[in-house]
Amino acid sequence: MSNEKFETMVDALCKSGVEIVSKMSGHEAHLLHMSVGISGESGELLDAIKKHVIYRKKIDIENVIEELGDIEFYLEGLRQGLGIKREYIIEENIKKLSARYKSGKYSDEQAKSREDKCEHLFEFLKEENRFVTYKCNKCGYEEER
Ligand SMILES: [Mg+2]
Ligand SMILES: [Zn+2]
Repeated sequence: MSNEKFETMVDALCKSGVEIVSKMSGHEAHLLHMSVGISGESGELLDAIKKHVIYRKKIDIENVIEELGDIEFYLEGLRQGLGIKREYIIEENIKKLSARYKSGKYSDEQAKSREDKCEHLFEFLKEENRFVTYKCNKCGYEEER
């Protein structure tokens, strides 16, 4: 594909910013703000570590602490926007990792087999108000379609 064709393609496929803004609520703007913040501050943290590891500079621990704090700020803002407590997220993470690493210790085998991820085997469960519910007969996960 020529660069000109690529430019035309991108122009045609980008959702209009005017349309995005016209439909975005204040709440959604907050979620986007916090998510952009997490990503931006993660980049700043990565740069601080890069200077140390790649350029062989002494680690700037004050800067690392600052960037970690900035990430914490946006994480908390996102959690508040979604009404999710940090404790709940940690519980869920512990559940996921306990399922993945049943031995309680890291191994490449467990990392690769990802026991916490199920390739669902859906079977019909029920139909209610035009919604059909399927249930995975391996992990019990239910999905409405
Ligand atoms: Mg920062
Ligand atoms: Zn499943």
